[in-house]
Amino acid sequence: MTVIGVFALQGNVREHLAMLAQVGVEARPVRRPSELAEVDGLVLPGGESTTMDKLARSFELFEPLQKRIADGMPTFGTCAGMIMLANEITGGIEGQETLGGLDVTVRRNAFGRQVDSFEADLKFAAFDSPYHAVFIRAPWVERVGRDVEVLSTVRSGPAEGRIVAVRHDRLLATSFHPEMTGDARLHGYFADLVRDL
Ligand code: GLN
Repeated sequence: MTVIGVFALQGNVREHLAMLAQVGVEARPVRRPSELAEVDGLVLPGGESTTMDKLARSFELFEPLQKRIADGMPTFGTCAGMIMLANEITGGIEGQETLGGLDVTVRRNAFGRQVDSFEADLKFAAFDSPYHAVFIRAPWVERVGRDVEVLSTVRSGPAEGRIVAVRHDRLLATSFHPEMTGDARLHGYFADLVRDL
């Protein structure tokens, strides 16, 4: 059976585990390198990227994660997890580093401080009806590399046109929290990507 891990040192871990179980894969929390070695794919959840960065280092997961991502492990970064996957960030704190792998520039807390959270219906070519997305102190994607596919953008309001979902080969990232709305389509999309290996 396909095994998908969820980086579990910080962030919305339980919700992602539940969604993954719903799409028929074995879902496991990952806190140490030995656990990382056993998964076929990984979710980097939403939470706080600066804390994730620090915890990944102190639990000696940072380098093993970087290596597996560079070696082609399918990885799905959501919100703070999108920041962790980005090759480049703006609005980070002093010394903040990312795992990298995804050729994009991501702006942290991009939608403005006064707009802590909002919801929007997004269009994905792969889905036949809109995907309801919840954004919480979310980043957006400011630059995409040549091989990065834009999967969805905000369709109206002040952030219209902003890129909020991307894919680059086996790396998938969303600005929003797909684990919070009970819609398992993105987890299903990711699980298919892992199964197709
Ligand atoms: N603003 C957070 C960060 O920079 C991300 C917020 C989230 O994951 N909901 O890490």
